[in-house]
Amino acid sequence: MAEISINQIFCKKCGICAYVCPRQVYQFNELEGPQVVKPDDCIFCDLCIMMCPDMAIEIRKAGKE
Ligand code: SF4
Ligand code: SF4
Repeated sequence: MAEISINQIFCKKCGICAYVCPRQVYQFNELEGPQVVKPDDCIFCDLCIMMCPDMAIEIRKAGKE
């Protein structure tokens, strides 16, 4: 399972992470920004991390440093 954290100070709520994620891990609306709704479905492809323009996303495999 993925532990996904979004740095709320960096995030500008552009929605790119939700748009590029192939597994619909994020739900997005402009008011709240991205919400992690399905962390279990993350396949650790790192697309959201690479595409986030503000380097706001960190993902760890649960149980690992
Ligand atoms: S690493 Fe891939 S599957 Fe996981 S949340 Fe990011 S885009 Fe989605
Ligand atoms: S891509 Fe980055 S800046 Fe854009 S909504 Fe997602 S976390 Fe926030």
